[in-house]
Amino acid sequence: MKQDLIEIDESKAVLQQVALPGVNRNVSIYLKRLDLIHPYISGNKWYKLKYNLQIARQNGYKTLLTFGGAYSNHIAATAAAGQLFGFNTIGIIRGEQQLPLNSTLDYAAKQGMDIHYKPRSFFKKRNTDEFFSEMKSSFGDVYILPEGGTNELAVKGTAEILNGLGVDFDYVTVACGTGGTIAGIIAGLNGKQKVIGFSVLKGAQFLFEDVRNLILKSGENELCNWTINTEYHFGGYAKITKELIDFKLAFEKKNKIELDYIYTAKMLFGLRELINQNTIKQDSSVIAIHTGGLQGNKGMSNKVNRIQKSI
Ligand SMILES: *Cc1c(COP(=O)(O)O)cnc(C)c1O
Repeated sequence: MKQDLIEIDESKAVLQQVALPGVNRNVSIYLKRLDLIHPYISGNKWYKLKYNLQIARQNGYKTLLTFGGAYSNHIAATAAAGQLFGFNTIGIIRGEQQLPLNSTLDYAAKQGMDIHYKPRSFFKKRNTDEFFSEMKSSFGDVYILPEGGTNELAVKGTAEILNGLGVDFDYVTVACGTGGTIAGIIAGLNGKQKVIGFSVLKGAQFLFEDVRNLILKSGENELCNWTINTEYHFGGYAKITKELIDFKLAFEKKNKIELDYIYTAKMLFGLRELINQNTIKQDSSVIAIHTGGLQGNKGMSNKVNRIQKSI
């Protein structure tokens, strides 16, 4: 079905109190279930896409073009959004084609995404003007979404994630990749509560500057009610350990809520550590954002099995 209005029911993203395994202090934790918005236009990616899709539609674009790794949640979300709202989609994937397609790319292709592969060297210049004009000369008049979907319109969207929450809280915690999601959340709160991001990339010092710039571009003044913790990446992007797997499974058993390995499991693990270290104070309340990305779990299953078997 092609919908004229670019809308998804955001009220599905309920707030749910959860218990973290291994917490030994009294802190109330509420999970904001962005994972429930849509199975593939999942979590934060919907908020990052929505104003981009509206502007693309208003300006008469028929085709969206974007970039990502072979398991990217953003690629899956863009493919699904294109199918749902009537855009053609082109996905430029880092690396070489592997057949059969993995679950993410198989899904994207079935949504009609036209998939191309480019080497890593090509991806290095992806944010330059030269690159944008090269894309337009190869693919025509396409609306280009950056890798991970982060741009000013994305931040405008993610600023709405905590609208109408209806509870008081002291902290917000969220996983960070490019920082577009946390930047919007910080801008949307207007300097009130404290926001703590958890980087899932190793060596993500760049995030402090990138997030600061995104906040300033969104029209907010300098805000200092936020920080990014860079310690709980578990070795880097999509790297996992036995300890993380055990934590994820224990959380899922206790709360009956599935987590993804790459983002929300790492964030909640880090949150538990900060609570146990009393960095997050006793008796406070925390909104932890479940940013979705569950489609990526299929792509992690071999890695998980290998780690489980080797113990
Ligand atoms: C992309 C993604 C993030 C990171 O969002 P950024 O805006 O790039 O920081 C977090 N969680 C999930 C599930 C994602 O897919």
